[in-house]
Amino acid sequence: MIEREVLEDASALIRGSGSVVILGHQYPDGDAVGSVLGLGLMLRDLGKTVEVSWPEPFEVPGRLTFLPGLDMMVGPDKLEPEDLIVTVDCASRERLPDFNKILRGGFNVVNIDHHTDNTMFGTVNIVDKDAAATAEIVYLIHRDLGLELTEDAAVCLYTGILTDTGKFQFNNTSVETLKVASELAAAGVKPSWIYENVYQSDSLNYLLFTGDALSRCVLEEDTGLTYVFISQENLKRFGVRMSETEDLIDSLRALKTHRIAALFKELESGTIRVSMRSRNDIDIGSIARKLGGGGHKVAAGYTSSRNGFEDTLNELRREIIEAGWGTDNR
Ligand code: AMP
Ligand code: MN
Ligand code: MN
Repeated sequence: MIEREVLEDASALIRGSGSVVILGHQYPDGDAVGSVLGLGLMLRDLGKTVEVSWPEPFEVPGRLTFLPGLDMMVGPDKLEPEDLIVTVDCASRERLPDFNKILRGGFNVVNIDHHTDNTMFGTVNIVDKDAAATAEIVYLIHRDLGLELTEDAAVCLYTGILTDTGKFQFNNTSVETLKVASELAAAGVKPSWIYENVYQSDSLNYLLFTGDALSRCVLEEDTGLTYVFISQENLKRFGVRMSETEDLIDSLRALKTHRIAALFKELESGTIRVSMRSRNDIDIGSIARKLGGGGHKVAAGYTSSRNGFEDTLNELRREIIEAGWGTDNR
């Protein structure tokens, strides 16, 4: 639950500002993009000048390009906040690497998020750890903030909830989540149309890339870890962008005997970004935090400080065993 006082403070900040900059986290997912755009559209309808952004690489994942409101996007280098800053789906300032200067520039910051490890870095913090998605929070508070929901905004928020709940299948899906989804449907969202856009819009190249990636999937006995490594070379071979691969990890989770799923993604710089998911309440959020990242108990990630894939894998393996999640410890 979010306290009334907090919502009143946020509402006052919005009322008192002419322009709003809305920031999502680096490598944005459906929730970050959906929340940024949904909130942006509602604020624009209220008469505010709105700019939305996220850190480099500043691109919209292919399956989210159908969302309304993309004309509000302004690259991080061109952003010039004058008034209020709102961050969505960001647990900490570290998830906003290109914006540290403006976040410390004396502007008021409204921090809207659902991560358990949120550092409460805003002037006002609207953080609800029980919400399945930041988009769910944005919907639940929009009236308190003096905002009106349009069909376009509803499309964005529904997409955020759909993607963060794995199509309403993950255990963050609550009665409240389904209620919000139904209210968004009542506002004009067609669930099958969103599904088609998000989940039935892959290219043949992407399907072939997925087949190749899954053919290299490994399952480890001692850690219960299943993983795939995606190199720049793999992407190039199929003409696929890294931002298209967000959902690949869900295919690894189909494996009956896995306990932790990990996707190792080689960035252009050679650095490895690690996406993790777990089952049976295995706490990978604390492992990710220990390795310099963060996230939820069962969905977390970090950018490796190790050189290359092998070192990154070995480090993660050690951390899993040390944390007591190895199968030998059970
Ligand atoms: P992803 O695997 O990128 O979908 O991320 C899963 C969860 O972990 C999300 O809730 C992210 O907010 C969080 N996360 C991913 N990467 C990082 C990171 N480098 N630092 C902090 N949190 C992260
Ligand atoms: Mn997110
Ligand atoms: Mn989220």
